[in-house]
Amino acid sequence: MKYKNIIDMHTHTDNSFDGNHSTMYMCENACAKGLRAVAFTDHIEVDFYREKNFDKTAVQSFFDVTKARSAFNGKLVVCAGIELGQPTYDTATAEEIISERDYDFVIGSIHNLRGEEDFWYLDYSKYDIDKLLSEYFDELCTLAAWGKFDTMAHVTYPLRYIVGEHSIPVDMAKYQSKIDEALKLLVENDRALEINTSGLRQKLGRTMPDEDVVKRFKELGGKMVTVGSDAHYAEHLGAGIETGMDIAKRCGFNSVMLFQNRTPVEIPIE
Ligand SMILES: [Zn+2]
Ligand SMILES: [Zn+2]
Repeated sequence: MKYKNIIDMHTHTDNSFDGNHSTMYMCENACAKGLRAVAFTDHIEVDFYREKNFDKTAVQSFFDVTKARSAFNGKLVVCAGIELGQPTYDTATAEEIISERDYDFVIGSIHNLRGEEDFWYLDYSKYDIDKLLSEYFDELCTLAAWGKFDTMAHVTYPLRYIVGEHSIPVDMAKYQSKIDEALKLLVENDRALEINTSGLRQKLGRTMPDEDVVKRFKELGGKMVTVGSDAHYAEHLGAGIETGMDIAKRCGFNSVMLFQNRTPVEIPIE
């Protein structure tokens, strides 16, 4: 491995509806791959919290991570995380979820627009793509302004489907002012930006966000980035993390962040 400390700050176990492997199995694999730390960040979609039993998922996920942390003590740093989807659509519930358990790390995500399905499921022939993306970036601004998470996940997530899966071209310049606004709000609130490496192994072929956005975050005063594979399978643990670290470094970041007890710990890129 190129870098001394590889940490993966975004992963899903089988406690996520789309996850596949147990927390313990994921930890075994992380150790075998030589990772130093893993954050388990199972999905909790705030806008469907009780309706789709995410309240039960949250309990089980936290319990499994606590067990794994003790089983792998001294071998692997295990962070108890959560990926909060759409927290700004119901901030009261989101704040209740965060305060319910002693999380190390909270990821803030937008997977769908209000009242819509996940971008994954949309039939793009039936939508005005420009309108969808404008609304998506507005929601990112609202999320960044709320700011009660540690890192903002996979900025440009809809591109995974629009550009990656459906090969519909998008002119990102149109949304630059909205992206800038979201990044500035992250800076003001002292939050991190995630470099999500899942796009590298998917049709999109690049990180979410890509290097241009990470660079812009730095220019606007951004101080912290996290890197995560968004692994939903044990074999994807750590995938692309070094590429994410390369991007961070090229954009002027000397470290990536690990979070423990909601506090950033600097891990030098070396
Ligand atoms: Zn996500
Ligand atoms: Zn995820």
